[in-house]
Amino acid sequence: MNIFEQLESCVRTYSRSFPVVFNRAKGASLFTEAGAEYVDFLAGAGTLNYGHNHPVLQKALVDYILSDGITHGLDMYSSAKEAFLNTFHDIILEPRGMGDFRVQFTGPTGTNSVEAALKLARKVTGRSEIISFTNGFHGVSGGALACTGNEHHRGGMGASLSDVTRMPFDGYLGEGVDTTEYLDKVLSDPSSGVDHPAAVIVETIQGEGGLNAASYDWLRNLERVCRKHKMLLIVDDIQSGCGRSGRFFSFEDVGIKPDIVTLSKSLSGYGLPFALTIFRSELDQWSPGEHNGTFRGNNHAFVTATAAFKTFWKDDVFASEVRRKAEMLRKGLSDIIRKHGFKTMTLKGRGLMSGIECETGELADRVTSLAFEKGLVIETSGAHGQVVKCLVPLVITDLQIEFGLGVLNECFAQALSEQQRKAS
Ligand SMILES: *Cc1c(COP(=O)(O)O)cnc(C)c1O
Repeated sequence: MNIFEQLESCVRTYSRSFPVVFNRAKGASLFTEAGAEYVDFLAGAGTLNYGHNHPVLQKALVDYILSDGITHGLDMYSSAKEAFLNTFHDIILEPRGMGDFRVQFTGPTGTNSVEAALKLARKVTGRSEIISFTNGFHGVSGGALACTGNEHHRGGMGASLSDVTRMPFDGYLGEGVDTTEYLDKVLSDPSSGVDHPAAVIVETIQGEGGLNAASYDWLRNLERVCRKHKMLLIVDDIQSGCGRSGRFFSFEDVGIKPDIVTLSKSLSGYGLPFALTIFRSELDQWSPGEHNGTFRGNNHAFVTATAAFKTFWKDDVFASEVRRKAEMLRKGLSDIIRKHGFKTMTLKGRGLMSGIECETGELADRVTSLAFEKGLVIETSGAHGQVVKCLVPLVITDLQIEFGLGVLNECFAQALSEQQRKAS
């Protein structure tokens, strides 16, 4: 038995799907101790949008460390924080009409950012109820977990998860049903049993829930219902943000303006733990230290995030490349579907957050296991693990996308022929 199995809790997951020891990584490639190379279609579950060890970010970080830059400073002012805030404001917020937003440094994980968002929404509105959506994933600490749909994750709490009402996400009741009409209806009816909520929390593209992309119309209608019923709109952009959709924020092309946005995963750009909750300035009703944490704002992450904004977001060059690669990936996935499952498989997601929904989780699981044998690290998502999920680093090369698509094509062929053999 290896030290991992001997010492590390059974709670470990990704290591079960990819049981090798990785020791090096660059761009979209992972290398094992034994020297094998894998193409990374997982990207740290969306944490490594700029790939592993991006040279510009790496140099900025190493220089900062060697110059004795502040590593931990609670939430004190630091030069690194100053540069981060200036850059975030000038390059990200201001050009997107969000120059009036306030920035809260929360604990370093996504779920910390969600907790802060929920707490603030409840504090500002004086209401406790939150609306979340079927198949939504928002993290696994108490408040965030209550908003998460997945039964397996919620079951881990062992205590009540309350003050959340779940509503059907876009498409949940089939095409042609606008589920925001139902939300509007229950909120307009004092006898519906749904109390007036503080906020709605939504992912524009559900990551863990199976790459369900909400339509722009649905999101606009959701915003309208929020305004009508005076609820705050929280967009959880932890996975779909930082360029994954082809824009910095996933909601930019939609034309909605959320009240609160959560960011983490790829925010540092380098895979460092770092999260923000940002919100319209009039919502900034916190008193000093009312919500805190020892690790608020990671100075090393300030440095790499600042370098990432300057490198990738000063103009539209990088984002337009992301959109081009997304088209290429989605076309490749469509070809696979046409070839192997014209009637049984569906293209899911948006941007470089796309994948293939299979009839069963078993098939998706077999495909991703076979893919790993052929040098591709790729995971499934969805309620039944039925979606083969391509969460590639945004800096991936065309050749690596082609390699991954080739592997998936072969694996679908093999997995489906195994299935047929078993059935006959
Ligand atoms: C990953 C994720 C979270 C939770 O982030 P952690 O860092 O794992 O706590 C929350 N919301 C969304 C949409 C996520 O994808």
